Amino acid sequence: MATLTNPFEIAREALRLLAVRRIPPTPDNYLTLYQEIAGIKPGTESFPEKQLRALASALPKATPEQLRLARQLDEAVKTANWEEYKTRLVEFIANLAEAQKLAWAELIGDLFRQWDARHPGLTAARKREALDHVLSGSSGNPETLFNRLQSLLRSWGQGRENEAAGGGTASEALPARTGDPAGEDLLPQLRQLFAFTLETAIATQLLESPQLSSDAKILANDIRNAASVSQMQDFLTRLKRFAFKLELLAEDQAELRSSLLKLLRLLVENVTELVLDDHWLHGQIEVVREIIEKPLSQRALDDAERRLKEVLFKQSQLKASLFEAREAIKQMLAGFVDQLADFADATSDYHDRIEECAGKISAARDITELENVIGLVMQETRTIQLNARRSRDELRSTQQKVAESEARIRELERELETTSDLVRHDQLTGVLNRRGLDEIFDKEVGRAKRHDTVLSVGLLDIDNFKKLNDSLGHDVGDKALIHLAAVCRETLRPQDTVARFGGEEFIIILPETSLDDAVITMTRLQRELTRRYFMTGNEKILITFSAGVTQMHEADTQASVIKRADEAMYKAKQTGKNRVIAAPVDHSSTAGAKN
Ligand code: GH3
Ligand code: MG
Ligand code: MG
Repeated sequence: MATLTNPFEIAREALRLLAVRRIPPTPDNYLTLYQEIAGIKPGTESFPEKQLRALASALPKATPEQLRLARQLDEAVKTANWEEYKTRLVEFIANLAEAQKLAWAELIGDLFRQWDARHPGLTAARKREALDHVLSGSSGNPETLFNRLQSLLRSWGQGRENEAAGGGTASEALPARTGDPAGEDLLPQLRQLFAFTLETAIATQLLESPQLSSDAKILANDIRNAASVSQMQDFLTRLKRFAFKLELLAEDQAELRSSLLKLLRLLVENVTELVLDDHWLHGQIEVVREIIEKPLSQRALDDAERRLKEVLFKQSQLKASLFEAREAIKQMLAGFVDQLADFADATSDYHDRIEECAGKISAARDITELENVIGLVMQETRTIQLNARRSRDELRSTQQKVAESEARIRELERELETTSDLVRHDQLTGVLNRRGLDEIFDKEVGRAKRHDTVLSVGLLDIDNFKKLNDSLGHDVGDKALIHLAAVCRETLRPQDTVARFGGEEFIIILPETSLDDAVITMTRLQRELTRRYFMTGNEKILITFSAGVTQMHEADTQASVIKRADEAMYKAKQTGKNRVIAAPVDHSSTAGAKN
């Protein structure tokens, strides 16, 4: 028999079969036949979608868990998945029971603790009275009992004996602000701590938002002086509002930061357009660009700032030099044109005069007349010669001025690279120069003091460098220095600083590094240098260094720390070179230093 699909036809066929098979027409028999005809597996119940949906929508949706359950049940109804519906519901109820069980255990534990604890103004008798009140007033409803007990214990914890017990007659006053000498009442201390946090940790962070900063101070004052429950509640409401404003401020600041970075990127890109073919400037700008692409840190920003300052300074200097050169060339051209004009005037006069002389010659009738004319010609020719010489001399002197001005530009550029107050990087190796070192030293020492961390300093000197210079030439020596600086930078951590201290000596500042770790770091650097040969042509050159390391102590100055590192380096040289020696602290010179 073909399976029927129309419910009306299925129902008619079911009734027909009941009659034909002489089966008693009970609802169950009818259902069995109906399912048989409709091709539904016997025993499969139809999905009561309407009822289940009604149940799901009637469930409370006050908590996130309840909301999640409603969503899950709704989903199960949509896919007609009874198993899913059942599982979710059972799971929810089981969790609920679990949560309640846990809460009771906690509550009873808390009751014991609060019962034994001493509360100012609360005697054992008063506690018992309040507890009786709660027990008798909860009329056998476990939920009410649970909530009332919880409020009672909370009020004991806060020193309010009667409020939650329903007495309503107790004073609203909070415990004294001085606190319990036995230290059992933490509330006053907590309030002090809260006020302190608001005043010192939060208000000081809000220097750019004076209004919020002063709100934080007012809140601190309020929590310190809150003497009643209602004042405390008022404080909490305002604290929430304050927290909300802080959140908004944080969002604003994040946005501001990202806009500033965008602006900086734009600026850096455009500076590149401005500088035409100065390799040094391009290099500096490339470094700045790399710095701002990485996650920001104060150190990275300091570095970017230093390099940008140098770029801007050098640009302004070059602009001034170029302006001077242009002026000189302009003057030279103007002078040249004047000379040409003078010369042209003089020669046209000369031509006129010579023509005049020629006329006189053809008209001459005797030798004396001719002598006069020749005298005139000689005189004119001499004048023109003088004019030509003067023009040539003047041109020469202008040319010389231009050459001088060009030389001055070159001189200026060289000066800029070596002596400028603003340049903080060594032009040969790209690491910091002495000036840059002084600046970063102060910053790192300040940072170490603020964060109470250790700081170590290493001083390295290349071994037998003079021999290398002598045998391979000064240029190869220069390249070896560049190689060493590059290996240092690539081997050390980003927060470590490398600076050229002099000829072939380098200082390395290692923040948050103990003396032992500094020795390990410098030794690693030595190993790296033996692994990465310095190549000149096809020749492999092994560069080694001797180093002294020391840890900075409170009484140290930059000079004392470098001196100690230098003495240790000297020891390394004396004891065979290519080694690292740690300098212990000389306590007589660093009295009061911490270890
Ligand atoms: P030691 O192992 O004892 O340190 O011997 P050394 O030869 O390295 O030391 P010394 O101080 O006798 O010589 C250092 C040499 O470094 C001398 C100097 O010409 C060279 N030097 C200093 N600055 C530079 C530079 O910028 N480029 C080059 N190529 N050489 C430099
Ligand atoms: Mg030396
Ligand atoms: Mg040396």
